Amino acid sequence: MYGFKIMTKNIVVLGSLNADNIMKMPRMPLVGETMALTDVTTAPGGKGANQAVAAARQGANVSFIGAVGNDSNGQFMRATLLTNGVNVDAVATNGDVPTGSAYIMLQESGANTILIHGGANQALTIADIDESVIANADTLIAQFEVPLDVIMAAFKIAKAHHVQTILNPAPAVYQLTPELMQVTDIIVPNETEAQLLSGITVKNDDAVLNRVSNAILAKGVSRCIITLGDAGSFVADGNKRWWAKPNKVKAIDTTGAGDTFIGTLARVIESDFSNLDEAVKQASIASAIAVTRAGAIPSIPTRDEVAAF
Ligand code: ATP
Repeated sequence: MYGFKIMTKNIVVLGSLNADNIMKMPRMPLVGETMALTDVTTAPGGKGANQAVAAARQGANVSFIGAVGNDSNGQFMRATLLTNGVNVDAVATNGDVPTGSAYIMLQESGANTILIHGGANQALTIADIDESVIANADTLIAQFEVPLDVIMAAFKIAKAHHVQTILNPAPAVYQLTPELMQVTDIIVPNETEAQLLSGITVKNDDAVLNRVSNAILAKGVSRCIITLGDAGSFVADGNKRWWAKPNKVKAIDTTGAGDTFIGTLARVIESDFSNLDEAVKQASIASAIAVTRAGAIPSIPTRDEVAAF
């Protein structure tokens, strides 16, 4: 029987694992008030987890580098990754701190307020990085929900082994230092992050986005993709600038759109970045599908769904 070789992309995600506690309430309680919740659910979350699952559903071989606490939320997050085909051999268990968690106060009006406890994500250290996992990858992705020195060390290892690096500077809590930008191949901020990192108010206008991109590229990185929700995304690759048009869909929940975009981008992009345009198009389709469904991880589409769109 004749067959053909399918090249599977090896992606490593360095990032956060959170148990999201979604608390439904009529409205925000006043100071000193006791209020009954109308519902409480726990869902898997953390930008790292979402991006890893997105890359895996797009057909990549994905390994996770991160940490959980020695608790039930940690077991829940490990199980979530495993169920989605993500390798957890490089996920550490830290017995001194709880697994990362988020507390999402969801009001009847749909407005939400979120509190985060970094827990094991914030206690991650350089010693938790398994160098061989990165060395054997094609692409390494990180966000800003783990300590900066760990991201820095992991990206340096990646570049020493010619592994592509994608940085999602979310949330925008660290500066884009020349040291970090030197080891970053593609940076993918959303509108808010692009604004904070460039110091320029973002508008969906070519001239403004050009200035914002220039300000980010001037920090020492060659490629920047600014995601702009239902307006699509603006790509800067060296001197080239273009828009990836949004796909028209009926959005019901945009949670995880950015994470789906990044996981898909990482799976599609070639090692020489020659198909950046195509990778951004596929990422835009995957994230457009994600916003038509509820939740973060449950909303992430498969590769077949993206192909059929
Ligand atoms: P989140 O924090 O909700 O995960 P984000 O702010 O990181 O999202 P966005 O810029 O909102 O990321 O969205 C990422 C990408 O998803 C966009 O560039 C776009 O391609 C797609 N997208 C988001 N919202 C819509 C929408 N309403 N319709 C079509 N595509 C969308």
